[in-house]
Amino acid sequence: MTKTTTTTTTLVVLDRTDRLGRADRELLVLASALGEAHVVVPAVPPDALLDELGAHGAVTVHAAAAGPGDRLTAPAVALAAAAARETGARAVLLPNTPEAKDVAARLGVRLGAGVVTDATGLDADLVVTKSVLAGGWTTRCRATSPVLVVTVRPHSVELPAAEPAGAGRPPVRTHEPEDTVPAARVVGRTELPASGRPALTEARVVVAGGRGTGGDFGPLEELADALGGAIGASRAAVDAGWIGPEAQVGQTGRTVSPQLYVSCGISGAVQQRAGMQTARLVVAVNKDEQAPVFEIADLGIVGDLKKVLPQAVEHLRALRG
Ligand SMILES: Cc1cc2nc3c(=O)[nH]c(=O)nc-3n(C[C@H](O)[C@H](O)[C@H](O)COP(=O)(O)OP(=O)(O)OC[C@H]3O[C@@H](n4cnc5c(N)ncnc54)[C@H](O)[C@@H]3O)c2cc1C
Repeated sequence: MTKTTTTTTTLVVLDRTDRLGRADRELLVLASALGEAHVVVPAVPPDALLDELGAHGAVTVHAAAAGPGDRLTAPAVALAAAAARETGARAVLLPNTPEAKDVAARLGVRLGAGVVTDATGLDADLVVTKSVLAGGWTTRCRATSPVLVVTVRPHSVELPAAEPAGAGRPPVRTHEPEDTVPAARVVGRTELPASGRPALTEARVVVAGGRGTGGDFGPLEELADALGGAIGASRAAVDAGWIGPEAQVGQTGRTVSPQLYVSCGISGAVQQRAGMQTARLVVAVNKDEQAPVFEIADLGIVGDLKKVLPQAVEHLRALRG
């Protein structure tokens, strides 16, 4: 990411009011580097979150007076549009989640803004870097509209080594956005069972398994835990019912951009690559030396994952004493 000396008023649209996740903090670092950072949250946040937002450079915090209740997307779009108009933001940054992409698309229509999703970089002159065509190409593009809306992949922005010191609690501006669009309503929520591992899209390390696991993710889980990582999967593994669909990485699954992606027993089809090719380092374990995954691997290990992974875990444990 390029640091800037010019000032761009930027709006960061967050979808939570409890605490900042890694992806949220990355957006705030990016917005502060561009210039003045304003933040949108769905409802008036607690003081702890306000302090965190202030520490990360938020100048003002915009929230809906009543909160979104059980309605999806439409209230978030109305609130973000109102805040964007009021702040005169030139750039609007959102996380790269499916929900945020939905908001980004509608916000683009409301603001007459160019929308870029899946960004992996944003320069001072608002040129966006993103990977396209199933991760095969990296492109740079610029919106021709006065306002740019971007969803940014996690791990695209370096976080400072130390947490920023408190910079004062930013003022909260409440809105009662006009929101007459019929919206979908949430009728129920089911919590995913907690794994104790980081969220797949935010994890610094992802250990992913495919058909080559034969359905036994045990060795992958041991490696993931040794590295503090999350578990991902190919579609073949998901379709076989070996792991839940929330773990799928790829064109029709999650997009991840971790520091390290360990691909285990995955052939490396183009649809799988689409979800992981922007990982900083790819390590592939596959028993077929002709597997396409080796074309994109920084380090390739030809071997049976059931033998290779336990050795890696043993070595990591030995290194840590
Ligand atoms: C429209 C569309 C969307 C798709 N979306 C996705 C998506 O989002 N994500 C996705 O992943 N796929 C997606 N696919 C499917 C994709 O094309 C592949 O079929 C899929 O990725 C293959 O999964 P796999 O690599 O696990 O299985 P395989 O292709 O069967 O590969 C298994 C690999 O494991 C290796 N292996 C076997 N045993 C071992 C062992 N003991 N140790 C080490 N290696 C071993 C084999 O050599 C082989 O390379 C999509 C396809 C379509 C058409």
